[in-house]
Amino acid sequence: MAAYRAPLKDIQFLLNNVFAVERLFASMPDTAEVTDDLISAIVEEAGKIAEGLLSPINQSGDREGCHFSDGVVTTPKGFKEAYTAYAQGGWAGLTGDVNYGGQGMPKMLSALIEEMAFAANSSFALYTILNTGATLTLSQHGSEELKQRYLPKMYAGTWSGTMCLTEPHAGTDLGMIKTKAAPNNEGSYQLSGTKIFITAGEHDLTENIIHFVLAKLPDAPAGARGISLFLVPKFLLDESGDLSGERNKVSCGSIEHKMGIKASATCVMNFDSAIGYLVGEPNQGLSHMFTMMNYERLSMGLQGNGLADSSYQIASAYAKERVQGRAASGALQPDQNADPILVHPDVRRMLLTIRANVLAGRALSLYAASQLDISRFHPDESIRFRAQQLVALLIPVQKAYCTDRGFEACVLGQQVLGGHGYVAEWGLEQNVRDARIAQIYEGANGVQALDLIGRKTVRCGGELLKILLSEMDEFLVSQEGVESMQPYLSVFNRCRQRLLESTETVIARAAENPDEIGAASYAYMELMGLTLYCFMWQRILTAAFAEQTLASSDSGYTDGLIKTGQFFMDRLLPRAESLVAEIASGADSMMSMKAEQF
Ligand SMILES: Cc1cc2nc3c(=O)[nH]c(=O)nc-3n(C[C@H](O)[C@H](O)[C@H](O)COP(=O)(O)OP(=O)(O)OC[C@H]3O[C@@H](n4cnc5c(N)ncnc54)[C@H](O)[C@@H]3O)c2cc1C
Repeated sequence: MAAYRAPLKDIQFLLNNVFAVERLFASMPDTAEVTDDLISAIVEEAGKIAEGLLSPINQSGDREGCHFSDGVVTTPKGFKEAYTAYAQGGWAGLTGDVNYGGQGMPKMLSALIEEMAFAANSSFALYTILNTGATLTLSQHGSEELKQRYLPKMYAGTWSGTMCLTEPHAGTDLGMIKTKAAPNNEGSYQLSGTKIFITAGEHDLTENIIHFVLAKLPDAPAGARGISLFLVPKFLLDESGDLSGERNKVSCGSIEHKMGIKASATCVMNFDSAIGYLVGEPNQGLSHMFTMMNYERLSMGLQGNGLADSSYQIASAYAKERVQGRAASGALQPDQNADPILVHPDVRRMLLTIRANVLAGRALSLYAASQLDISRFHPDESIRFRAQQLVALLIPVQKAYCTDRGFEACVLGQQVLGGHGYVAEWGLEQNVRDARIAQIYEGANGVQALDLIGRKTVRCGGELLKILLSEMDEFLVSQEGVESMQPYLSVFNRCRQRLLESTETVIARAAENPDEIGAASYAYMELMGLTLYCFMWQRILTAAFAEQTLASSDSGYTDGLIKTGQFFMDRLLPRAESLVAEIASGADSMMSMKAEQF
């Protein structure tokens, strides 16, 4: 199996040439010290951790899995040591609030680090991103006292966090949760109920586990408006904030046996009058969670992209080595029995599909992360607000489109290896299994598509899309006189126009028939994803053509980028037309079937 290599060259190109991050960070006082040198040093160090610490325990972790015995969960060999090294390196608090021991780094940086961690070892990465999401929720909505007591240890990585939302009968529809929170005299609450599928709910990596739990207060309104958020530690703290030694009444009932991410503990968590503390306002739990969800969903897209990149690395190395058949245009290696399978157009189709989508997916993830950074750090409130609106639109697409492309990439990579992709040795079958979950958790992709077209598009009359379109227009105007870009711009412009027309069609039809929204949703999300990937490719191509004119450029690298971009336009983008037709066909063919006909 080819060892995972951190894609540092691609990352540097995107950060410096495509997104000009130093300029962006310099424009915001809180990130002004994040220079190119600092970024390079952090990304390179993170790359070493992914390659040297996480990748070596990926396959063994998958084989061994987590073990459960009498409420105790043991992670696979090497995980505890790796987690300790990760925590001691200061990675757990990278983006955290500087007032509580975090390092205040931008999301653009941590997004790349997450992608590499997911590529090298998705199970391990999950322990880290759950903690990041939990600290974000606490820092944005928790009281000063809760922040002081919990954040520093969570940023230090000695304690970790979980998100406890799902119950056996309540997954997508969280309004139906039954977990209850009864007020205590001392201002705390007693939580009772059962949560399922809780990632990192119990494990042996940290001294304490801090659960963020959705539950209902006694007088709560029915449905989603009656949900509150609570912090429930595994071990209770004493007055001074240290571990008291007293175990809270929260326990792990079992762990799931599942398709992939086997070294990530997926737990049933029982709360039996466990002591908890309200985070934020009563009955506002779901909206507090949404702050965190934009970050968590971005992470899932990064999981898809990371595993796609890992699959590309394995499959492209294999295709250069494996010899089968002859090139159609004549033997490439006449002195050998056969040519490398890379000579076959269909093998190139698979590899180029993965590569084109990985680069665009990484760029889209960075674009979404840059908007998260602007919405957090920019001094101008109106610019922060605009970025928040773009985030709201981009995140469901990034989550669903990157995870779908990620799974597809792992299957394509597996196909490049033929039977050797199906057996465990090369790592592709693990990638396929590990990538699949990203399409399901943090809101299944169908629900992301519905969020995009419903709440983020139809309900606001396409206002958020207008912001994205204005960004695209700004780019088109900036390229007006650039000769090398003209063939690409017209293709992009057409795609942008088709997206706008499809949006108008759905908005108009939704007024007559509400089922039109759901019926169009998935194709619409894919059309938006494809258009955004095209937008990202425009930006990559612009940067590649500009770089090519410099004497210092690596022409082989930039030429490879341009050829991959051409492949995207010729071979992947035409799917936009069939998506437009799908959307235009309306809801009838789906909704006319009676239940008994299924
Ligand atoms: C390995 C793993 C780890 C997880 N980690 C966590 C965790 O840490 N914390 C946590 O709280 N949860 C976690 N989950 C739960 C996960 O987020 C849910 O499984 C997911 O949100 C879907 O809920 P569900 O499984 O109940 O499916 P359901 O809600 O029953 O949905 C089933 C199908 O119906 C579709 N559907 C449902 N409602 C709609 C609708 N309104 N419109 C269109 N389609 C719809 C969905 O898209 C899906 O395809 C995890 C799950 C797994 C498997």
